[in-house]
Amino acid sequence: MIVNLKCGECKLVFPADVGTPTLDEKSSIVWEKKVICPRCKAIDKELLTEMGQSQMTQFFFGDYLK
Ligand SMILES: [Zn+2]
Repeated sequence: MIVNLKCGECKLVFPADVGTPTLDEKSSIVWEKKVICPRCKAIDKELLTEMGQSQMTQFFFGDYLK
């Protein structure tokens, strides 16, 4: 799926194809695909934007909220 992310290095906001997100044992979100910033090429530095957070909430809990 496409998630709205923000690069922790250069602060660029960009839509990233992360594959299928899953949760690890600490309830942290894990992307299926590696996310690389299109501007500064930082790997694994991405942060969720507010839009990205609501996208994740919808993805993981959407069924419960219906
Ligand atoms: Zn960046």
